[in-house]
Amino acid sequence: MSQLQQIDQAYVARTYNRFPVEIISGKGSTVYGPNGKSYIDMGSGIGVTAFGIADDEWIQAVTAQLAQVQHMSNLYYTEPCAQLAKLLCERTGMKKVFFGNSGAEANECAIKVARKYAAEKKGAEHFAIVTLENSFHGRTLTTLAATGQDHFHQLFQPLTPGFAHAPANDLDACIKAIEDSKAAAIMIECIQGEGGVKVLDQAFVKGLAAYAAEHDVLLMVDEVQTGNGRTGALYAYMRYGVQPDVVTTAKGLGGGLPIGACMMSEKVESVLGFGDHGSTYGGNPVCSAGALSVIRRLDDPFLAQVQEKGVYVKNELIGAPGVESVSGMGLMIGVKTVKPAGEVLKACMANGVLPLTAKDRVRLLPALNISWNELKQAVAVIKQACAE
Ligand SMILES: *Cc1c(COP(=O)(O)O)cnc(C)c1O
Repeated sequence: MSQLQQIDQAYVARTYNRFPVEIISGKGSTVYGPNGKSYIDMGSGIGVTAFGIADDEWIQAVTAQLAQVQHMSNLYYTEPCAQLAKLLCERTGMKKVFFGNSGAEANECAIKVARKYAAEKKGAEHFAIVTLENSFHGRTLTTLAATGQDHFHQLFQPLTPGFAHAPANDLDACIKAIEDSKAAAIMIECIQGEGGVKVLDQAFVKGLAAYAAEHDVLLMVDEVQTGNGRTGALYAYMRYGVQPDVVTTAKGLGGGLPIGACMMSEKVESVLGFGDHGSTYGGNPVCSAGALSVIRRLDDPFLAQVQEKGVYVKNELIGAPGVESVSGMGLMIGVKTVKPAGEVLKACMANGVLPLTAKDRVRLLPALNISWNELKQAVAVIKQACAE
């Protein structure tokens, strides 16, 4: 084991089991380790580096702001935060944005919005939030409670009360869970990322949206992983033809700097008032400048090429030797392999490609601007690893 790996293992909390891979630098979708070893990055920091590593335009946006003012607190106005909120609202039809630093915080904000909205409108007993089985919504005690995977819950009890879980793609069961718990809101991921790249059915999401609208239950969509161009639409809900009441996002938003956003529709834009919520770093000018540059570049022609690349990857992998099935949208792709996903991953790494896994699948979340050349090379390596 290298000296770096020894120091890390001695001093960094052992909550992550790392691969024996060190990364020193990168450019675009190629990253470099010691001795010039290079890899094609098919994970982009778990869907974070939307425009790859050390992208010139992103660096320019971030460093210009860094030299101007790096932080001021929320007591004062700063340009990037205001412009980012405006752009997000213009692109989504939402009315207000709360900024935090992560996906979990974006979801905490959404949960507070739902609780206060329902408490004021329907009464304090309407505090529950229904989420889906196999979902993932974060690691704080409240977003863990929202997460519909029991193995994350063990030994951390008691979690925040007020969450009920219902099976994905079962509209009747979800409606029953909403009614039984007198729920304030239902929160979904259109594609369950950590859950194994499982895509929700169109009819299910539309049915939930219609039920939620009719019964004044908030439809909250967690776009932490699916958002910001990942699926070939700006947000995945846009591909379902529904208009959520609350949308949360993070990961790819900042392009590599920590920022999360909770976007609120007209119905709930005034629910949180002065003093109801806050975050010291929320809307930090440097993170916001990075996010602004990311969102500005996600125009229709760019999103079309995300789609095109996703279709290419799927077409290459569907029916390939050792591949059972392929799921996902755009550049969020899950591959069910005959061999255990972990073994495929190791074979890819040995051949200079860094994919991810999620549950029993190999998961691909490359940078949205990955070059065709890198994409083709990576897919060839992945195909070989599946077939071996
Ligand atoms: C990653 C993720 C989160 C948590 O985001 P953090 O930034 O790690 O707090 C929440 N929801 C979904 C869908 C995610 O993929």
